Amino acid sequence: MSKVHTTIALPTGQKITIPTGLFINNEFVPALGGETLETVNPSTEEVICSVSAAQAADIDRAVQAARTAFKTTWGKHCPGTERGKLMHKLADLMERDAQVLAELEAVDNGKPVKIARDFDIGDSVGCIRYYAGWADKNHGQTIETNDLQKLAYTKHEPIGVCGQIIPWNYPIQMWAWKVAPALACGCTIVMKPSELTPLSALKLCELIVEAGFPPGVLNCVPGYGAVAGHALTYHLDVDKVAFTGSTITGRKIMEAAAKSNLKKVTLELGGKSPNLIFESADLDQAANWCLLGITYNMGQDCTAGSRVYVQDTVYDKFIQLLVKKFEQVKVGNPYDEKTFNGPLVSKGQFEKVLGFIEEGKKAGAKVLTGGGREGTKGYFVKPTIFAGVHPEMRIVKEEIFGPVLAVAAFKTEAEAISLANATTYGLGAGLHSNDAKQCMRVSGALEAGTVWVNQYNLLNNNVPFGGYKQSGIGRELGQYALANYTNVKAVHFNYGEELE
Ligand code: NAD
Repeated sequence: MSKVHTTIALPTGQKITIPTGLFINNEFVPALGGETLETVNPSTEEVICSVSAAQAADIDRAVQAARTAFKTTWGKHCPGTERGKLMHKLADLMERDAQVLAELEAVDNGKPVKIARDFDIGDSVGCIRYYAGWADKNHGQTIETNDLQKLAYTKHEPIGVCGQIIPWNYPIQMWAWKVAPALACGCTIVMKPSELTPLSALKLCELIVEAGFPPGVLNCVPGYGAVAGHALTYHLDVDKVAFTGSTITGRKIMEAAAKSNLKKVTLELGGKSPNLIFESADLDQAANWCLLGITYNMGQDCTAGSRVYVQDTVYDKFIQLLVKKFEQVKVGNPYDEKTFNGPLVSKGQFEKVLGFIEEGKKAGAKVLTGGGREGTKGYFVKPTIFAGVHPEMRIVKEEIFGPVLAVAAFKTEAEAISLANATTYGLGAGLHSNDAKQCMRVSGALEAGTVWVNQYNLLNNNVPFGGYKQSGIGRELGQYALANYTNVKAVHFNYGEELE
């Protein structure tokens, strides 16, 4: 086996050969210095394989490849219609390989195969098709000026070489959210997946080649954040960085842009999202959505509805329903199609979440269900509800990124809004009520980039997504994301005025 491929067994027993090198100029190559990192299966705690770990010199190679493609075969050198065709081909190939990609994701990330296949990959295919449609439609405007002998128009030009840094919680979906609008707009890409989950991003590179993208259009450089991510964000020939990850890393990305070449920056960061349950709500439905809000993807979700506030008149009834539903969540083997929660992604994440649970107990919060590890092997955690919390507890203030919910009661609508907004984050918020006027009032008052009314956590490729406050800068998805990858050029055209 070469240094840039390896064979692994999938849970079904099927053996597949997967790429493990860096992907530069449509070829898998080892890191120049031969550095590697190991990736671990969170269900078994065993190493799956090693992949090449990019260093600064590798990032430089990838950026050069992206720059050359931008100047020769992509960007202004490839019509939008052609870019769209290639993207449609990529989406078709992802659909063809959905099962294998989902199994790989389950091995590397712990995500249940069914969820990875039907939602992560299904939505990613949709995202690529959605932006393939935009590739030849992102026009500028013709603008009348106050001078009749002149015309002004705008062109939406691709920004250039984009560094894209993604986290481990949705390795394929975050990949799709980033690459689809960038490719549609004509940008070239240096993608850095998380060091915890590099395998699906590398596998997708095979599809990039098969679809027929020219070399250098999309490069992929797994590596550690402090090394590969750092080099990418400080690189002087990178025009833009798009980042999804923690707020703390987001600050470093902005600092890197400021200290290097003022590259454009968009950030999708963390959250501590509230879900409000008003007394008129359909309580059974509201409990279903709250459950989905905090247990989907094992709570490793930037929009996880981790704080639930319930009107005091229905509090006891609602909590009874919620606890019952939590106890029905099937936690276990991610390869079983009936599993809803697999393990958390890594030992570090597992210990962090268990640490929060212990801290909540010590601070005096009451565990209504869950409260610890599930089983003895793998990074599985029981879906957990804490009651008796107060706003100053760390489990109420900080992003846990696990299946851990804090619940509390409120009396009035004003109190509910004030509790919901009492956070430095502003990514998502939910409200459940059968009073239409209340839904309008409260959705208007919530400080969040996404507000769900009588549902939670469902996104759509056509609809923008992003954060208020410290949850981010810019919007992904929908037409809005095109602005992240285009420069607007204003052309002032004189067809009459002559200077004396
Ligand atoms: P993280 O910030 O640790 O890492 C994210 C990515 O940044 C990884 O690829 C990592 O290698 C890289 N990175 C780390 N340090 C870096 C540095 N100094 N310079 C450049 N790159 C660096 O986050 P994570 O633990 O992988 O992901 C979880 C976080 O992501 C959570 O806080 C979650 O809320 C957030 N998230 C947000 C969204 C959103 O859309 N808002 C979506 C998913 C996850």
